[in-house]
Amino acid sequence: MSAYPIQTHDYDVVVVGAGGAGLRATLGMAEQGFRTACVTKVFPTRSHTVAAQGGIAASLSNMGPDSWQWHLYDTVKGSDWLGDTDAMEYLAREAPKAVYELEHYGVPFSRTEEGKIYQRPFGGHTTEYGEGPPVQRTCAAADRTGHAILHTLYGQSLKEKAEFFVEYFALDLIVTDGVCTGVVCWKLDDGTIHVFNAKMVVLATGGYGRAYFSATSAHSCTGDGGGMVARAGLPLQDMEFVQFHPTGIYGSGCLITEGARGEGGYLTNSEGERFMERYAPTYKDLASRDVVSRCITIEIREGRGVGSNSDHMHLNLMHLPPESLHERLPGISESAKIFAGVDVTKQPIPILPTVHYNMGGIPTNFWGEVLAPVQGEPDRIFPGLMAVGEAGCASVHGANRLGSNSLIDLVVFGRAAAIRAGEVVDRAAAIPATNSAEVDRALARFDGLRHANGGTPTAALRLEMQKTMQSDAAVFRTDKTLAEGAQKMTAIAGRLGDLKVTDRSLIWNSDLMETLELTNLMPNALATIVAAEARKESRGAHAHEDYPDRDDANWRKHSLAWVDGNEVKLAYRPVHLEPLTAFEDGGIDPKKIAPKARVY
Ligand SMILES: Cc1cc2nc3c(=O)[nH]c(=O)nc-3n(C[C@H](O)[C@H](O)[C@H](O)COP(=O)(O)OP(=O)(O)OC[C@H]3O[C@@H](n4cnc5c(N)ncnc54)[C@H](O)[C@@H]3O)c2cc1C
Repeated sequence: MSAYPIQTHDYDVVVVGAGGAGLRATLGMAEQGFRTACVTKVFPTRSHTVAAQGGIAASLSNMGPDSWQWHLYDTVKGSDWLGDTDAMEYLAREAPKAVYELEHYGVPFSRTEEGKIYQRPFGGHTTEYGEGPPVQRTCAAADRTGHAILHTLYGQSLKEKAEFFVEYFALDLIVTDGVCTGVVCWKLDDGTIHVFNAKMVVLATGGYGRAYFSATSAHSCTGDGGGMVARAGLPLQDMEFVQFHPTGIYGSGCLITEGARGEGGYLTNSEGERFMERYAPTYKDLASRDVVSRCITIEIREGRGVGSNSDHMHLNLMHLPPESLHERLPGISESAKIFAGVDVTKQPIPILPTVHYNMGGIPTNFWGEVLAPVQGEPDRIFPGLMAVGEAGCASVHGANRLGSNSLIDLVVFGRAAAIRAGEVVDRAAAIPATNSAEVDRALARFDGLRHANGGTPTAALRLEMQKTMQSDAAVFRTDKTLAEGAQKMTAIAGRLGDLKVTDRSLIWNSDLMETLELTNLMPNALATIVAAEARKESRGAHAHEDYPDRDDANWRKHSLAWVDGNEVKLAYRPVHLEPLTAFEDGGIDPKKIAPKARVY
């Protein structure tokens, strides 16, 4: 046994992460009477979900006709036909229920005149299977929707007696005979080590935006779940698909919600032209995110960028009534003032596409159960482990996520994981015993990093990784940039063994924590660029200049990446094409979701 003093905890369920996904799973588990622990490295309401502004998609039809079938169609099209149809149907169908539950839990949604939940238009959300006008589907609590959801779910979880372990950093999974039986954690404020044994572990650790130099995500978004899964020998899925949000504030990367365009804001170039009308005649500024980000990049490349370096664009809100800005977009008015020095009632906001969301992640089915695909069995379940939220890949976003479809993913699949656990977790069974060999393995890695005494400071290697990802796995990609990028990233990942940690203490050691985070970011980043290099087509967020078209015959498949050190092994698994419900039984008409060109 290791030299570190260890405290052991036994629970039915341990959830790692207290963002929207982790809290919804925690609440659901606790409601079912499971003894539930939620472990989180930041205080729950500081999770990145708190920053979500725009809203949460559900076909409530509060502000005009809508249907779950239209939501499903838009999600399929948004995913560029890479999402799993069963999972997308589950999302679209369950969304209204999940939102009404949030309302009943106490989320203070904005209201219509009649007192219903207010809904705004968002990119890629349409009526009549893309034939009709934009739909108002995105439920919002002003421009602080994530904040409202997180605080509500945290309160409800406490009420249900879920136990929170705050500022505990999960180091590694414990795997016993092919079953996940717990997780090893480091308590940041006193340096103690904690082993959580459980019948079910749920990873809800969020995305890995910080693998890039400029990202809208919090500095805590370091893909820790993906890192833990990769070290357990499990694959990551569809990592090449990274979403750039069209409107990060130029310079800081801070987000201006798509809701700003939903409320009537529009983009202009250096000629004052509303250029989106040229690229997406129907939906214009509300085309989907990958499309708008690419159009901005093309405009800049062709010399029509604004500013002294002609390197960004303008987002205009000046024409909107100040009352509506105040009521519907108060947070972004403030962000624009602080981060760009702009008064949105008088001046345009300088913006640039910025890394925003990871479509890829830990592969799961639509119950959140983690998959460990093997030859001939692409949907094989890895027992004892679930993944939900941005850390997971169900896959509902495929190659591109629609705005407001992540918050709904968090609550629908957080809830689904709890429902499923109710079915598969044996309440009578004993909690698994501590697996000392696994704990020792995790602590040996921890100890190795704590005493790392090589030649490369963590911050230096992280910066190299971030710059490489930013320039070589960007909005537009070519064979050349990807091949060079993959080579560079392989070399950079190879230098993890040469890290230097200067602080050897165990209490509030941010140097060590950032080092652990870097060892998690790295496999995520490496899988991203290697899978991107392999994918010889353009689909969703993966815009490959040497292969400008989508190639369904060869590439309508999920990529899987097993990362071991700086080596990546790739394989593929089929996309689920079958909806959950047959057309005859009230499901969607399969003809409606058959692949076609993606135009907005
Ligand atoms: C600025 C911004 C605005 C957005 N706006 C919207 C929007 O309007 N609508 C929408 O649908 N989507 C939006 N998104 C996307 C969406 O908010 C995120 O995808 C979503 O919030 C992710 O939630 P999560 O629960 O998966 O993870 P997070 O909220 O990122 O939470 C991760 C949790 O995991 C914990 N954790 C991580 N690693 C460890 C570890 N090693 N040990 C212990 N705990 C750990 C953290 O402490 C945290 O509690 C936005 C994203 C950003 C960045």
